[in-house]
Amino acid sequence: MAALIAVLPGDGIGPEVTAEAVRVLEAASERHGLQLEFREGLIGGAALDAGEPPLPVKTAQLCGGASAVLLGAVGGPKWSDPGAAYRPEQGLLDLRATLGVYANLRPVKPHPALLAASPLRPELLAGVDIMVVRELTGGIYFGRKTRSESVATDECRYTVEEIERIVRMAGQLARGRQRRIVSVDKANVLETSRLWRAVTAQVLAEEFPDVDLEHMLVDAAAMHLLSRPASFDVIVTENMFGDILTDEASMLAGSLGLLPSASLGEGGRGLYEPIHGSAPDIAGQGIANPCATLLSAALLLRHSLDCEPAAREIEAAVSAVLDEGVRTADLARGGTSVGTRAFGDAVLAKL
Ligand code: NAD
Repeated sequence: MAALIAVLPGDGIGPEVTAEAVRVLEAASERHGLQLEFREGLIGGAALDAGEPPLPVKTAQLCGGASAVLLGAVGGPKWSDPGAAYRPEQGLLDLRATLGVYANLRPVKPHPALLAASPLRPELLAGVDIMVVRELTGGIYFGRKTRSESVATDECRYTVEEIERIVRMAGQLARGRQRRIVSVDKANVLETSRLWRAVTAQVLAEEFPDVDLEHMLVDAAAMHLLSRPASFDVIVTENMFGDILTDEASMLAGSLGLLPSASLGEGGRGLYEPIHGSAPDIAGQGIANPCATLLSAALLLRHSLDCEPAAREIEAAVSAVLDEGVRTADLARGGTSVGTRAFGDAVLAKL
């Protein structure tokens, strides 16, 4: 039976970059004998324009029945009216909750040919290969909120079960890498962090004795990500710390247009999307960098379709194209650049 892939192009450059990822997935599936069926759904501003909520029921059903979801991006100035009943971004939050994807994986591996694009010195970036595993559906973003005229509160709450499952995910990922985990918390101040530290230590000692664990305070982690990024292998952390540290880590690679992400829950189904937004400033021009979405498609093959060889082929093809000096405008530094489709063509040619 064919594996159903829900494709949600969304807004801005979303349709341009997902179109390339679908072409590359089609080529990879042909080469590896995978049967994939692609079905598109509306999300975000595109759904609002069609008179639907940001996550239409039809889209939620499509994603619920799919093996994986490939998403472009949502949002843009057109839908930014603060008085509006809905914002496009709500569609994405609802989708993550609907799919129960509690783990956000963001691999950060600067490409050797692009080291000059990072604000860090190239010698600091040599050998950087980090997997950040961020808890995505708990913590302060989802806690009870109160607001009165003179005071506001946000509750940060974590259960043992929420910590255990994300640490297990990190442990499994570490086994396919260098078997080193840095768990980031603020255990000198926060009770949730003290629970996080205790549960992390217990899960890894009992279930992953072959994986090294280091606890690190979030302030120190923020510093070490810049001073010695190559020393990290897997980082596991709670929702808000992960949100902030992953944006910091994304700068190691040089452009927002390069970094993919996977959001996973129980079972194999996942949500795959570039870390960038809808880039309204360049939307419709055919110049967006599709790398982050192509690499998200590789993660889809790896984590939801269990097809590691196809995932590696796509990663190698993107890497080879960058090695040859083919650049979209965001990376061309004023030099010659190609458009989104031409970059996709170059990757397809390598495949
Ligand atoms: P953005 O990531 O869309 O763009 C930031 C800058 O990076 C822009 O100059 C843009 O042109 C550039 N850029 C981003 N992706 C690129 C690519 N693939 N190729 C070349 N250049 C690229 O962030 P923003 O401008 O702060 O947000 C725009 C909209 O996107 C907002 O409505 C925001 O809410 C939304 N957003 C959505 C997501 C998501 O869907 N997951 C994530 C972040 C922001």
